[in-house]
Amino acid sequence: MALDGKVALVTGSSQGIGKDIAIRLAKEGAKVVVNYRSHPEGAEETLDEIKSVGGTCHMVEGYCNDERGYSVGADLGMVEDVQRLVADSIDHFGQVDILVNNAGIEKHAPFWEVDEKAFEAVLNVNLKGVFFATQAVVKHLMATQRSGKIINISSVHEELPFPNFAAYCASKGGLKMLTRDLSVELAPYGITVNNVAPGAIETPINTKLLNDPEKLNALLTNIPLGRLGQPKDISGLVAFLASEDASYMTGSTFFVDGGLTWNYQEQ
Ligand code: NAD
Repeated sequence: MALDGKVALVTGSSQGIGKDIAIRLAKEGAKVVVNYRSHPEGAEETLDEIKSVGGTCHMVEGYCNDERGYSVGADLGMVEDVQRLVADSIDHFGQVDILVNNAGIEKHAPFWEVDEKAFEAVLNVNLKGVFFATQAVVKHLMATQRSGKIINISSVHEELPFPNFAAYCASKGGLKMLTRDLSVELAPYGITVNNVAPGAIETPINTKLLNDPEKLNALLTNIPLGRLGQPKDISGLVAFLASEDASYMTGSTFFVDGGLTWNYQEQ
């Protein structure tokens, strides 16, 4: 399988997109570290699904014998937690080859009402956490002289405005430039860095929207493919970017948005 022998750390993998990525990478043969902040039951579900996937495929013995899932609680807004998460992963599996910076939050408020606490909450998880998780994995890769893959789950809002979510846009825009910068700085070490930018995906982050038929229909009319995305629309691309087939790809953002980003029509 494409990721046999690799170890992947997927942040925020107790639900939503991260959960699906963790399961998909396990299906591809990777050993996976599952990370959660405050939802251990969700992380347990991810682990169970990883094991159940193993139970029905070629890797059945591997999954069952060596406990391919490992879950670590950490708050990615805190640098010490981020460093501990990476250190725990390396202690447990001996290496980390693939880092998927997936954890992210958004907070709705008009720009003029965003206070420091809300701003920091968003920037700390979406940008600072990514920065220091990547740094810790990169130090490990450099120390062990191995190549690696960093995959950031960004958003169409690294490119598109999103009124009332200014901090979120700032964080994802920052992630775009972090990826471009690191792709150049880390290329000599065989480390690639790419962003995946989802459009509107059906996950708990969108619960309010999913329960508001009027807003949901308005959004759907803006999506050329006429549907919301599903987590598997993202995890398939992440699995590809984590594989050797993507070894010449770095510094790019790949949009998975049903055509949303470039949808403009004259009325
Ligand atoms: P979600 O709310 O379902 O999941 C987010 C995950 O991040 C959860 O597992 C949560 O526990 C984790 N997390 C949040 N704060 C954390 C912290 N401080 N420490 C550790 N983990 C933390 O959302 P999702 O839709 O699965 O989002 C995943 C990523 O995709 C995010 O980065 C989000 O910005 C991005 N994204 C989502 C959409 C969408 O429409 N769903 C669109 C564009 C981008």
